[in-house]
Amino acid sequence: MNGAELSPIYIPRKGAEILAREILEAARWPNGKPCCPVCGRHKPIYKQDRKGVKGYYLCPAPHQSDQSKEDGPTKPLVFTVRTRTIMERSHVPLDKWLYSMQILAERSDLNPMTIVELARRINVTRDGATTVFKRIDALRYSTVPHEEENQFLLVLMAKMTREQVFPPV
Ligand SMILES: [Zn+2]
Repeated sequence: MNGAELSPIYIPRKGAEILAREILEAARWPNGKPCCPVCGRHKPIYKQDRKGVKGYYLCPAPHQSDQSKEDGPTKPLVFTVRTRTIMERSHVPLDKWLYSMQILAERSDLNPMTIVELARRINVTRDGATTVFKRIDALRYSTVPHEEENQFLLVLMAKMTREQVFPPV
């Protein structure tokens, strides 16, 4: 193994997850106004805290509780920067997602990374790394659900091939 070509192991700094969320939010909503990923509304959108954690947004418009039905009961929607993206329903923190995108963006197809390598670099389980790896791959090959909502991640990864976005230098 050629150690010199390997990306460094990620060591989270204090506040890294908050910083990662802010970078992702700025990339997804460049005008600073979160947009409901389901109905597309920009307002009113209310900011919410959950146990002191920021990054939750409420769209008060009626949304189908069961997305597969059209005439079921409706309710307001709480969303985050993860909603309808490859980061949705994943336990991997946002800073580790961003770091993974950064190191995978830097890798060429000729020098691929293995799941075991990625798991070591971001210090997650093999299962966690498998999810991150497969979903980033799907993003690059445009086989993700809600392609439109994931576009900002492709733009961010293109930027990552030219400069280090995360962690900021
Ligand atoms: Zn909405």
